[in-house]
Amino acid sequence: MTTTDTAPQTRSFEADVAKLLHLMVHSVYSDKDVFLRELISNAADACEKLRYEAINSPGLLGDDSQPRITVTLDPDTNTVTIEDNGIGMSDVELVDALGTIARSGTKALMEGIAAAKEAEGSQLIGQFGVGFYSAFMVADRVDVVTRRAGADIAAIWASDGLGTYTIRPVETVAAPARGTRVILHLKEEAAAYTQAPKTESTIKAQSGHVPVPIYIKDKPN
Ligand code: ADP
Ligand code: MG
Repeated sequence: MTTTDTAPQTRSFEADVAKLLHLMVHSVYSDKDVFLRELISNAADACEKLRYEAINSPGLLGDDSQPRITVTLDPDTNTVTIEDNGIGMSDVELVDALGTIARSGTKALMEGIAAAKEAEGSQLIGQFGVGFYSAFMVADRVDVVTRRAGADIAAIWASDGLGTYTIRPVETVAAPARGTRVILHLKEEAAAYTQAPKTESTIKAQSGHVPVPIYIKDKPN
């Protein structure tokens, strides 16, 4: 086995991302449940993108052609992990997707916040799709381990949401065979999300329409 691990590269979030993160984390907005909806919707989008690319490149599916989202709850480590076997991200895509604010939903949210009075910011978070960064409403560290379909390398993105993130290559054995694993290291006050009844009912209520099967596991393998 060759090792691909190297020292992590530290990068700063785009200024608007840092602003948005600060606003989300300090928001009085109480509906933290939305992080589950957002991360599951990203996982389902990733499965859909793979399905689309596989029309012309069926080899991308390998021997794993059924899309799947797995949510693993671990009270011992106080983590919630959302994993998909979708398209995954290359390291260039990782930087674009999880370091900038190029995406339509978040951009509209930022413009709304800029135009609104201070106190309205937290209401806006509820109205717009808040996207990936909502993970930091419940987590004080987020790791994203990802391997793009067809790639023989994998990478891990990690951040505490405070202004910088790191990216480094990881051994493929430590990554999903294909797709993305988002590990939320929960804040102490968010520990209830490791309890199956709460998280299961939230997922049922918010993500019932998601066209990819969602499996909830109480413990990692
Ligand atoms: P949006 O979903 O509106 O684009 P998000 O903040 O939710 O915005 O996600 C940002 C981007 O990060 C996505 O557009 C996608 O490119 C990437 N991304 C997030 N989660 C995943 C995932 N599970 N698999 C692949 N790409 C992802
Ligand atoms: Mg999204």
